[in-house]
Amino acid sequence: MEENNIQVKCNSMVDGNFEEVPSKEVIKFNPPLYRQRYQYIKDLVEQHKPKKVADLGCGDTSLLWILKFHKCIELLVGVDTDEDKLRWKEYKLCPVSGDYIKPRELTMTVTLYHGSAVERDSRLLGFDLITCIELIEHLDSNDLAKFPEVVFGFFSPAMIVISTPNSEFNPLFPAVTLRDSDHKFEWNRIQFQTWALDVAKLYNYSVEFTGLGKPPAGAENVGYCTQIGIFRKNLAKEAESCVSEQHVYKVVYTVTYPSLQQKKYRQGAVLSEVIPEVYDLRRELLQSLKQQDAGDLGDMLADPAYTEDSFECCEPELSLLEKANVEKAPKPFCVGNKFYVPLERLFALPRVKHLCVNIEMLRTLIADRVTLTSDGSAVMVDMHDEEDY
Ligand code: SAM
Repeated sequence: MEENNIQVKCNSMVDGNFEEVPSKEVIKFNPPLYRQRYQYIKDLVEQHKPKKVADLGCGDTSLLWILKFHKCIELLVGVDTDEDKLRWKEYKLCPVSGDYIKPRELTMTVTLYHGSAVERDSRLLGFDLITCIELIEHLDSNDLAKFPEVVFGFFSPAMIVISTPNSEFNPLFPAVTLRDSDHKFEWNRIQFQTWALDVAKLYNYSVEFTGLGKPPAGAENVGYCTQIGIFRKNLAKEAESCVSEQHVYKVVYTVTYPSLQQKKYRQGAVLSEVIPEVYDLRRELLQSLKQQDAGDLGDMLADPAYTEDSFECCEPELSLLEKANVEKAPKPFCVGNKFYVPLERLFALPRVKHLCVNIEMLRTLIADRVTLTSDGSAVMVDMHDEEDY
């Protein structure tokens, strides 16, 4: 995270000596460069909608936290050799109350592994995207030599994104040799691109280059502060079953998010649409009744003015077509002191239709939580609550 220093403080990249660095030499990126890198991956995920994403060298899991909001992701994995860092913010990855109130459409599991990007673990097979953000420069020469074989050859995801410092930018920093004391090397653009092209060729990937952190005016020739290679696999995915299970990494944390794939959450989501709708319809009817000077309920329900105008029951966000579908559906009605809402009417609501697929499923999901008529065709509630009397 070397650019933290660049953005907010005037301390030296190497020795942290604030005093020795003239402030005019400090280059600030706005937004900070680490955030630009996260944003870059976020945009990539939005564009390609990968289901399985792994971040190697994920550090304190900040990128994973940003990615967990993406609905397309079903498996989100972080790997790092520093277990303390992994554990530091793991609490941020757990579901919050909103995740239970409005569950995701698809199940998502988030797992953190303590392990190295140069170790083969079969649980990292078959990913759509693997990111290595500011990782490779932390690998010593032995690990760097193993990295392509493991990540490209073994994990072999559809897409790999590697970011690393561009050393040509370093002279723009005050007194910098390496940007971080743990960096084993920093490459210029030719070095990175030569390595990337060789690896891509060997493992049948294509690669394109970009970067983040524009150099200041007059220094454009040094290129971006962070250089990035985006690798795309040329061949379709191979069958994962050919590889025997190898579990080398240690699971540090794992959590599965609530989703509509689980019956109890789908049921909760359906009920949270159905119950307010039933009581809204009843409230609207009672209001209409109050506004009527006199008349008996049966007459009023038979009056088209009542059913079409005063019985406005569509949510404002419905499109015209959706509204028309709701209006076409059988109307709520009351008999005696009971109020009935046909399931067909509830199923006409787009969200209910989306959640239930068919009326039978709607009936099954709500049956043990509401009162249905004996033939199961309508939800029945009292016309008045106790307190109304
Ligand atoms: N990717 C994160 C980010 O951009 O915020 C963290 C980058 S940090 C500069 C480099 C991370 O790589 C550290 O968390 C370090 O522990 C981790 N790391 C170093 N060698 C590794 C290896 N062989 N396998 C996995 N992670 C490693």
